[in-house]
Amino acid sequence: MSQLPESAAVPQIVYLNGAFVPIEQAMVPVLDRGFIFGDGIYEVVPVYGGKVFRWPHHLARLKRSLDRIGIANPFDDAGWGDLVQALIARHAWTDQFIYMQVTRGVARRDHAFPAGIKPTVFAMSNALQLVSAEVRAQGVRLISLPDERWLHCDIKSTSLLGNVLARQAAADAGALECVQFRDGFMTEGSSSNIWVVRNGTIFGAPRDRFILEGIRVGLMSELAAACGIPFEVRRILREEVQAADEILLTSATKEVLAACELDGRPVGHGLAAGKPGPIYHAIYAAYQKAKA
Ligand code: PMP
Repeated sequence: MSQLPESAAVPQIVYLNGAFVPIEQAMVPVLDRGFIFGDGIYEVVPVYGGKVFRWPHHLARLKRSLDRIGIANPFDDAGWGDLVQALIARHAWTDQFIYMQVTRGVARRDHAFPAGIKPTVFAMSNALQLVSAEVRAQGVRLISLPDERWLHCDIKSTSLLGNVLARQAAADAGALECVQFRDGFMTEGSSSNIWVVRNGTIFGAPRDRFILEGIRVGLMSELAAACGIPFEVRRILREEVQAADEILLTSATKEVLAACELDGRPVGHGLAAGKPGPIYHAIYAAYQKAKA
């Protein structure tokens, strides 16, 4: 847990295009294509006790995202690593998460890529407030939604309107997150991957263009193996989600959480319904071990 509240004591210093400045002074021109078109990509990396968790995986995804939308990588691997370390060193929070964003840059408004512009690079650290023990013990509410996003959800793009609208629909319904469905099959949440447990096996959606391959997707298969829990990746029907014994969600900031409710109905069966189940507890414990 962060020892200091985000607002107190630690002034937030961010990185923008080569300079470290207080966040209030970091300004981007209005013609930045990130602002005009959402033409950029981002990455979010957790840091526990000063140690970056799964950095090589996050760096690889960052490079993949840049590549997918044709933005030249502004740094080499060491440069990205140095930037992250510099941000960590400037903030005393025990646990942090680093947000990095690269946009195509600033140019006269035109949809086509302008030639010869420099990408805008922004990065900041925030205190990582882990989910409270109470929420963890209770589990979280989910709602089902049709997945109305685009067909390149595998790119970690800053164009997030579909995700934002989905999350707001969940919030309006008093839920923490949604489970989205495309053509009757589960995709993912608005900002997390979703997992279904049936008869002791963890099922996850295929790593295709309909979901973002969370860094915890690879991790989940490793944790399941470490716990001796069968793990399967395949298309998952809405009915299978509705009949799940457990539903889990994963993300950098939420780690792994259990759902207590889907669309107002308790998740699971019998006496165990509506409570985080044994697979959740095993995976969460393994996650904490992996972090240490
Ligand atoms: N799907 C979406 C749409 C997301 O925004 C996120 C969070 N970045 C995830 C899945 C989970 O990814 P990760 O485990 O890397 O946080």
